[in-house]
Amino acid sequence: MSTVPASSDADVTAAVHAARQTAPSWAGTSPADRAAALRAAADTVEAATGELAALMHAEMGKPVDEAAGSVEAGVGTLRQYAELGPVHRGHALAGNDNAIDLMAFGPRGVVAVITPWNDPVAVACGLLGAALVTGNTVVHKPSERTPATGHRLAELCAPHFPDGVLSLVNGDGPVGATLAAAEVDVVAHVGSTATGRSIAAACARTGAKALLENGGSDPLIVDAGVDPAWAAAQAATGAFANSGQICVAVERIYVHREVADAFLDALAAEAETWGGKIGPLVDTRLRDGVHAQVTAALEAGAQRRAGGGVPDGPGAFYPPTVLAGCTDEMAVMRDETFGPVAPVMVVESFDEALKRAADSPYGLAATVLTPSMSHAQRAWRELPAGTVKVNAVFGGAPGGAAHPRKSSGHGFGYGPELLDEMTATKAVHIEAPPSGW
Ligand code: NAD
Repeated sequence: MSTVPASSDADVTAAVHAARQTAPSWAGTSPADRAAALRAAADTVEAATGELAALMHAEMGKPVDEAAGSVEAGVGTLRQYAELGPVHRGHALAGNDNAIDLMAFGPRGVVAVITPWNDPVAVACGLLGAALVTGNTVVHKPSERTPATGHRLAELCAPHFPDGVLSLVNGDGPVGATLAAAEVDVVAHVGSTATGRSIAAACARTGAKALLENGGSDPLIVDAGVDPAWAAAQAATGAFANSGQICVAVERIYVHREVADAFLDALAAEAETWGGKIGPLVDTRLRDGVHAQVTAALEAGAQRRAGGGVPDGPGAFYPPTVLAGCTDEMAVMRDETFGPVAPVMVVESFDEALKRAADSPYGLAATVLTPSMSHAQRAWRELPAGTVKVNAVFGGAPGGAAHPRKSSGHGFGYGPELLDEMTATKAVHIEAPPSGW
């Protein structure tokens, strides 16, 4: 367990004040110079990859090599924004021929960045990189579940920027709420839907823009005609990687009756294999919630095909779990579980699978495994989710950005489009002065 000093309300106010004071000079710094500072920060973070990975491993249980991969992803994102920032551009418009009409953009001002624990470096680097390179000043509050990782990331990055450009505040939900209610221009939050809603309410009061990347309950459809063993391997990767603690993890599975028996047998076998290689959950609080959903599903008639019990011993380990016979009403199908659980429902047709997959309060991502091009087309057109993946649970191209649907948030949290979110556009109309002046 790591500790860092929690910030008081006065600390939060002081950080926002410093960010506000520095905002004009940082906005006036050339994009090339801002990018150079970001590139230098990326180099420093890269040099500390091992140290950050060890902190992440200690704080949230991610195996060290995966944690190092996350830091590398974060460094890559900082470098991408350092490249993209200076070439981010506005538009010239077709107006009167004695005028110039532009859509020019500039930084929004002060951005509060509030981040989760499940990928603490990579997620923070995206928001920090995009906000800073576009000329905003930033106050970052990392998760209270990974405080030392957040603290160290700030120590590595902040010295590359003038004082007040990048500040850190530490603490739990109430500290985040204080920051979200402060006089900032944007609150960028990656985290749970419940928190996102309360941040949206705070922003409605202050007039700040809320950029929300929140929870999901991503469906996986296993269509007739697929190889059940291959589909089970995909399902296991989607449900068990990072112990299920990924926003776009597979959270519920609809399998066509034609392949259901073979798929379930193969998925149970996959769960046994994954048991030896996944890390623990972040803490016992999360594990209690995961186990409560599994227990409730079993009591409501689901059948345990693998896992499902809390192991003895230290740590918040939870085994890869496969549940058959799940129904729509079960929390394990409806809510976000955020643990290594694969609940399965057998369906009679692709139509039924699509309908059930779409019927969710969330709309983050969805995956369809199918040999049919027409089913693939229908899936990406009809599913109300920001991301639709066909025949692979992970592995989208770099730079992909999407609008989450429904309770999963709004705005572009990733990709080049995040630069648009971090800037405000101004329409400018300039006419030549009357002749004779
Ligand atoms: P969380 O919302 O509980 O916490 C995230 C951050 O918000 C933390 O820094 C926390 O202290 C802060 N916070 C909590 N309550 C707050 C409040 N009332 N006001 C302001 N800030 C507050 O989420 P978590 O448990 O840390 O992360 C897991 C969640 O994040 C899951 O739901 C997961 O799906 C989601 N997530 C989404 C994405 C995405 O891109 N959509 C990526 C990663 C994680």
